[in-house]
Order: sequence, then C-alpha cells, then structure tokens
Amino acid sequence: MDHFPVFLRVHGRRIVVSGGGEAALAKLRLLLKTTGHINVFAQNPAPEIQKWAAEGKLTLFNRAMAPGDALCAALFYAADEDDAEDARTSAIARADGALVNIVDNLQDSQFITPAIVDRDPVTVAIGTEGAAPVLARSIKADLESRLPVALGPLARIGKTFRKAADALPFGRARRDFWRAFYFETGPKAIKQGEAAVRQGLDGLLDDHLNRKARPGHVHFIGAGPGDPDLLTLKARRALDEADVVIHDRLISQPILELARREAIMIDAGKEGFGPSTPQEDINALLVQHARSGAQVVRLKSGDATVFGRLDEEIDAVDAHQISWEIVPGITAASAAVAAIGQSLTKRGRNSSVRLLTGHNIAGFADHDWAALARPGEVAAIYMGKKSARFMQGRLIMHGADRHTPVTLVENASRPEQRIIETTLDALPAALSAAEMSGPALTFYGLPKRKAARAAADLAPALNTATRPTHAQEAF
Ligand code: SAH
Repeated sequence: MDHFPVFLRVHGRRIVVSGGGEAALAKLRLLLKTTGHINVFAQNPAPEIQKWAAEGKLTLFNRAMAPGDALCAALFYAADEDDAEDARTSAIARADGALVNIVDNLQDSQFITPAIVDRDPVTVAIGTEGAAPVLARSIKADLESRLPVALGPLARIGKTFRKAADALPFGRARRDFWRAFYFETGPKAIKQGEAAVRQGLDGLLDDHLNRKARPGHVHFIGAGPGDPDLLTLKARRALDEADVVIHDRLISQPILELARREAIMIDAGKEGFGPSTPQEDINALLVQHARSGAQVVRLKSGDATVFGRLDEEIDAVDAHQISWEIVPGITAASAAVAAIGQSLTKRGRNSSVRLLTGHNIAGFADHDWAALARPGEVAAIYMGKKSARFMQGRLIMHGADRHTPVTLVENASRPEQRIIETTLDALPAALSAAEMSGPALTFYGLPKRKAARAAADLAPALNTATRPTHAQEAF
C-alpha cells in the first residue's frame, strides 16, 4: 500500500485550487461538498466558478498563484492543465506546507483523490493507487446502486442516538441493536419521515433493553477449498457476525479477511504428521467461548463433514447444551474434479465414488483394496501424499492395473493450483518430481479430461508436473 487511506478533517481549513478550467471544475464539484474554505486562483475562471464565488461558496482570486498563497492550507490542487504552471504552483504550495495533488500527475502528487460514494456522513472512498481508475469508477457505480440513498439520513439520526444506545451493554447487544436499526427498522421507518425513524429508535431500544442476552452458538462452517468465491452466502453471513473464529491451518487468508474485524481469530492449525493443536484443546476453546455468549464460527476447510473430526467437536458442545449448526462447504474433491474437467460419477464408468483418507490416527489408512482395484473404480483420496507408495503397493498387490490413471490436484481453486497427471505405476516418481508443498487431492481412476484438439496442438505435452492455468484451460 503506497497510499494509506485516511479521512482528513478539513472543516474550517483552507483548500487551495490553482486553475479555472475543466480539471479545476471537476475537483471543485467534489470539494464544495466539504466544509473547508475553498480558495481558487485563476486568471480565466470558468463561469461556474465565478458563479460559486458570487454565491459565497468559494473565494476567487483573479490572478496566478504566488508564494504564501497556500500558507496554512490543508490541501492544494494544481489544476492548470499545464505542466510548467502545475510544477510552479505545486512548488509554491509545497513550500507553504500544504499537501499537494497535481491533477493527472500521480508521480509528483503527495495524495490522490479517491472515487467517492457519498451518503454523508457515510462516505466510501475507493482507490486503486492510480492503477485502474476505470475499475474504481465501476466499483463506485456498483456501490451507488447498492447503498440506499436513505443511508445518509439514517446515519445522521443514528449518530444523535448513540448516547442513548450506550444504555445497552457494550458488544454484541449494542451491535444487534444498531444492525436492526440500519437494516430493518430504519429503512422501513424512513419512508414516513425522520420523526418516524426517531420514534422507531425509541421503541427498538426499549425492545433491546428488555431482551435477554443472545446465548452463545457455534457454526461449524465448511470454508471450501480456498477460493473465497466458493464460500456459501450463509458462511459469509456467519463470518460477518462472528465474535470468535476458530480456524484450521488450511483456511486461506482471503477467507479469514472476511471475518468481522473485531472478531477474535484463533488458529487451531493441525497438520498431518506435523505440529498441531490437540483436539481436546480445540473442543475446550469452542465450549469456553460459546458459554461466554459468543457467536463462534468453527471454520474448517472444504466441507466440515469430510475428514474434519467434526463429531468430536459436536459432542463437546452438545455436552454443554450449546446450540450449533453445520453450514456445508465445497469439499476438496468437488473443487479438484472441477479443475480437471471431469465428473465424480459417470454413467457407464462409475456409479459410486469413494472419499478416502491416506492416513488416520493409527498411520496409513487401510481400505477395501480388492474392491478398489477393480476396473472403473474412482476414489478421491484426501491426505494422500505421504501414503502414496503404500496405497500403490496395496492396490497393485490386489490386482489393480498399473496403468490406471492417477491425477493429483494441488491447491485446488487457488491461484497456485497445479494438476499432475500420472498413472498408478508412476505415482511415487511423479510425486517426488512435483515437489508439492500445498494440500493435494489425489484422484485414483480419473484422468484429466483431454484438451480439445486445437488447444492440444498448441499446448506443451501435459505429462507429469505441468503447470496449467486452471480456469482458462480448454478441456
Ligand atoms: N474437510 C476438508 C478435508 C480436510 S482433510 C474438505 O472437505 O476438503 C485435508 C486434506 O484435504 C488435504 O490433505 C488435501 O488432501 C485436501 N485438501 C484440502 N484443501 C485442498 C485444496 N485446496 N486442494 C487440494 N486438496 C485439498
């Protein structure tokens, strides 16, 4: 972040603009929304600027800027649309101690003006550090259409009510009250005018003061394979309301960032064969926080019900009569099979699919190898890297075809996603050549869908350890 966003108090302070043409006009339209004192230096000011000056909205000086003109100013805009003049005026303003912006000159500017969504006092500022103004504008347009116009008046009324709302205990109770005001009671009442909103606020506060504290609750949430776009809306909502988030090591950073900013984040990382938080400690954390009345989100990778030790955690919260619910997520097998362009089941090929783990608490996991070794079987193997050689041995011993396709998808759905195509025979060698460091899902009996001919002609041989870009690939 080269530019740090802040909201600068300009009330009663001077903002100086040099220039009287289109560039100056564009800035002035924005600056006139502030309660700063605006000074414009322009030898040929546009009629609109003259009008604003006549109306007392700004002070106009019909001359070029001179040293001392920006003394004590908070901000300065060089908007003469002339490089030499901009350089001259900005040097003066800098010497006078003002923060300088030169219109259309990111390099020499000390600050940039964001795209603004104005629901005063709610102001959304959007910046791209000058990289993509078009993007900023389209985000602005999106927000403009999504944020109700009444948001401004609601926030203004809300502000006058803050003292009264302090009667509610700090934290969850107060947050629930404000949430109900801004998203339920307020928007309904504002249609009948401000008086109705104030009345509604009184009623709402009474309601909330008489309410029993909301009991603690645990959401067991499947966070999906890593791409935040693969979270369910329900998961997002729970994250948005969480007091405490207890998450696994595999949960990606972009997903953690969706949690409510004030939420306590607890990393309960567990790694196969590696350092881990003992399950009993995780259970104890869940119980401890939920009993204190917290809305707890237990965030597990993929789907919480697949190799997630979910039942142990449910038993723990059940033992304390804590309410809970499971929010399903996209399991790694679903994301990985999408990445290779295949179906998990297919008419005429396999009418069932197994979800296997490579290892369990006892070590390498045992399975019905004879059944798996039959032609056409498909298995999605979780935590299968370390046990690959063991599985290969068992399967071949039970008569599996050595040429059975095996496909590994590392970091499914994430930017670093990799697909490794191999066979049962070559699996250990392919694995060591690939040097994988991310989580990987192994498909036994499922190859990657062949690329379409045209694409295949262009693509390098997709053998072991190629690095395809997942979404763009032609299947
Ligand atoms: N509950 C999870 C599985 C947890 S076990 C789910 O439903 O997906 C952890 C294993 O899941 C990893 O060892 C790996 O085999 C698999 N896994 C999790 N995320 C993955 C990802 N993004 N890409 C590939 N495999 C993944």
